[in-house]
Amino acid sequence: MANKSGVAPTVPPTAPAAKSTKTGKPKYERSDRPSIPAQTQRELWGRSAGRCEFHGCNEPLFIDSVSQKRSNLATIAHIVAFSPAGPRGHATRSKELEIDINNLMLTCKTHGDLIDNLNYVHQFTQEILLDYKRTHESRIRDATHAIENAKTTLLLVQGRIAGRESVINEEAVKQAIKPRWPGSDSSIIIDLNAYRISEGRAAYWDAASEQVVHETRDLLKKKLTKEEIQHVSVFALAPIPLLVLLGHELTSRLDLDLFQYQRSAASNRWCWQVGQPGSDDGLDPYLPEHIVDVEDVVIAVSISGIVERSAISRAIGREHLIYEIRAQRPGPDFLKYRAQLSEYGTMLRSILTSIRANVTSVKRIHLFLASPASVAIDSGRSFIEKADPEVFVYEFDSPHYKHALTINSARTT
Ligand SMILES: [Zn+2]
Repeated sequence: MANKSGVAPTVPPTAPAAKSTKTGKPKYERSDRPSIPAQTQRELWGRSAGRCEFHGCNEPLFIDSVSQKRSNLATIAHIVAFSPAGPRGHATRSKELEIDINNLMLTCKTHGDLIDNLNYVHQFTQEILLDYKRTHESRIRDATHAIENAKTTLLLVQGRIAGRESVINEEAVKQAIKPRWPGSDSSIIIDLNAYRISEGRAAYWDAASEQVVHETRDLLKKKLTKEEIQHVSVFALAPIPLLVLLGHELTSRLDLDLFQYQRSAASNRWCWQVGQPGSDDGLDPYLPEHIVDVEDVVIAVSISGIVERSAISRAIGREHLIYEIRAQRPGPDFLKYRAQLSEYGTMLRSILTSIRANVTSVKRIHLFLASPASVAIDSGRSFIEKADPEVFVYEFDSPHYKHALTINSARTT
C-alpha cells in the first residue's frame, strides 16, 4: 500500500482519517487498545527470546542494560494497528489481527514508539515489520533448535568377555551422553551373550559376526530410509574382534560418539574424564625402519597391554612389516579422555595413508589389538573398502594371538 508519490497516506481510504499534530503524535484513541491475553504475551516473549524484534536492536527486555536492574522493559507493538485509524490500520483487518501473535512484535520502548508513530508508517510498512519479526524469530529458533539436533540413539553392544556375560546399564549410559539425550524410548541392543566360545572357535566367530553384521545393517537401513537416526552413541563390552567388525560395519559415514567403560572409576563409569590428558597420557607411533614391499603388514596396538613381537611372528609366520601404536603408559586404565581416542584415530589413519602410499604390494593387513573396546570400534571404522586390503583381526588367547575374523574382504552380500 505504498504511495507512489512519496507522500504518506497513512490510512486506507475506508478508514476515518487520523488527525496528527505537528509533533507527529497520533491522535487515535490508544485507550481502545485490546488487552493481549497472557498466553499470547508469554509466547511472544518465548519466540523473541525476550529481545527487541526491531531490526538491528536485539536489546534484552527483561533487564536494564545500563543499571542491570531486572524489569519488564517491553512494549508489544501492533504491525497492523488495533484501530483502523492507527499506523497500518485497516477497516476490517485491524479488528481481526488485534490479538493475533503474528501481528505483534515485542520491542523496546524506543522502537515501540517508532512503530506506533503515524509519521513513519511509509518507512516501516507492514511488509518491512513482518520481515523484521520473521527474521528475529527464525534466528532465535535456529539458535535454540540445536537441542533438537542433540538427539542420539543409544547402541549397546554386549557379549561375553573371558566367559562372563556383560550387561550394560542403560541408566549409566544416559549420564554419559549429556548434553545429548536419547531420541527414542528404547535403546538398540546387540546382545551377543548367547554365544560361548567353548562351543567351538570358528563356529563362535561365524555366528557372532553374522549377528553383528545383520543388526548393524538394520540400524543403518533405518537411518537411510526413515532418517530416524541422526547420531549414535556407542557403548560396548564385547570381544575385541567383534568390535572391530562392528566399527567397520558402522562405517565412517555415520555420525557417532564412542564411549569407554572405566573399570577403575568410582562412579559414572561410562563418562569420559573431564579435562585434558596429561603429558604421559599420549600415544606414540612406531614405524618400520626400512619399508620393504611385502604382502603382509601388521598393525599392532599396545594400549591396555603390550602386543609382543614374538607373538606376532608366531601368528603370521611370513615376512611382514610392523607398524605399532603404543601408549606411553600402557595399562587397562590408559584410555580416560575422549581426546586420547581421537589422537588414536588420527594416528591410525595416518599410518593407513602411509601404507597405501609406500607398501604397494600389500595384500593383507593383520590387526593385533591390546586395546579397550572403543579403540577396537574406531579401528574398524578406519579401513576403507576400496583403498585397503582385507584385514585379519586377531584375538588374544594367552599366550597366543589367533585369527578370529576378517573384515574388508570383497563383499558378496
Ligand atoms: Zn529496540
